[in-house]
Amino acid sequence: RHIPGDLTLLKNAMQPLQERGYLSLDAFCDAVRRLVSNTVLPENGKGLLVALRPVPGMKAEQLIALCKPRRYGDLATLTGQRICLFLSSCRYSDLDTALRSIFRLPHDEIFSNRLVWFEDAQILTEISQMNDAPGAWHDLPLPTLAPVIKQPVSQQPRIHPQPVTLLQNEVESE
Ligand code: C2E
Ligand code: C2E
Repeated sequence: RHIPGDLTLLKNAMQPLQERGYLSLDAFCDAVRRLVSNTVLPENGKGLLVALRPVPGMKAEQLIALCKPRRYGDLATLTGQRICLFLSSCRYSDLDTALRSIFRLPHDEIFSNRLVWFEDAQILTEISQMNDAPGAWHDLPLPTLAPVIKQPVSQQPRIHPQPVTLLQNEVESE
């Protein structure tokens, strides 16, 4: 069927990225920058940029082998000690669902910390910093980058059980 020229342009602009999976840092930054600069896609709704720091004793290079994106437009790269993902069209509230489908192991057990950006301007700023100085980017103190969304289970305060005697009156009367 014949599609007028400007509609073809629009249709092409709405296609997801034709890449998926691991990319070199340069290629990753380039692809994310292209996607975020696409004015046909919703403002501040192109997807999530996620930086994941492995638990102590694990290396990002080891964990990237477990990272198997299935959706076109879901990209991964390594920046220093972190794995960085771009999750195409993923909503903030669906991050856990997407991570579960991408990693073979429970992500809470392999990553101790994660940072997430979803606004176009934030994503472009982080991508520029990553591309210009990946070492400096991952060495920045965490609180200044972005809020950590979820504290890993291992760092949550532990609740200690308290002894309780049930049916104390009945026991005493026997
Ligand atoms: P795709 O988006 O590149 O996704 C490739 C495969 O990743 C899918 O193959 C599916 O196995 C998995 N996948 C991606 N996103 C999700 C998700 O949100 N939930 C689940 N449970 N699995 C997901 P599949 O199912 O054979 O789909 C092939 C292609 O068909 C997809 O490629 C996409 O282009 C399109 N598609 C299928 N279902 C939907 C849908 O509900 N919405 C949209 N927008 N496209 C869909
Ligand atoms: P779901 O599988 O429970 O996924 C819920 C939401 O999690 C998705 O909403 C998406 O925002 C995010 N998500 C899940 N898996 C992935 C992933 O591999 N990559 C990315 N980038 N995001 C992911 P969405 O897209 O509105 O999809 C709603 C529901 O539609 C999905 O629920 C699933 O049941 C179905 N669906 C969407 N796309 C596909 C697809 O390609 N294949 C199949 N089989 N189902 C799909």
